[in-house]
Amino acid sequence: MASEKEAALAAAALPADSPTIFDKIINKEIPANVVYEDDKVLAFRDINPQAPIHILLIPKVKDGLSGVSKAEERHIEILGRLLYTAKLVAKQEGLEDGFRLVINDGPSGCQSVYHLHIHLLGGRQMNWPPG
Ligand code: 5GP
Repeated sequence: MASEKEAALAAAALPADSPTIFDKIINKEIPANVVYEDDKVLAFRDINPQAPIHILLIPKVKDGLSGVSKAEERHIEILGRLLYTAKLVAKQEGLEDGFRLVINDGPSGCQSVYHLHIHLLGGRQMNWPPG
């Protein structure tokens, strides 16, 4: 399997509007362990977890939001909704003592899927600085 950095560099070379694996998850073309779903947001467990709890929250409609650096004013509502949903899911997962939210952006940020997503990580003590 390619390293995170290699995957990030390969993904960055694709056009920003290319379909991603998350489209297939949204469309139920491939399975995912879904923990939360409403009409705007989908949350599912990461296939390669970096913590006992590692969930990805994504907008169901990409609308050009390949990453947070592509955010425009029209995205403000969905950006807020994603953060609020992260809080709901953290509570649902029992992360009473805390958790971490991460958004990787671009090749230097090690983003490997160009469909905006928030990582929700928890269930262990986090360290700082991150890698
Ligand atoms: P990024 O590196 O872009 O911040 O995060 C992408 C995340 O998507 C990675 O943590 C990776 O493990 C996860 N991922 C990639 N493909 C799949 C998949 O098919 N299913 C699930 N559940 N997660 C995936």
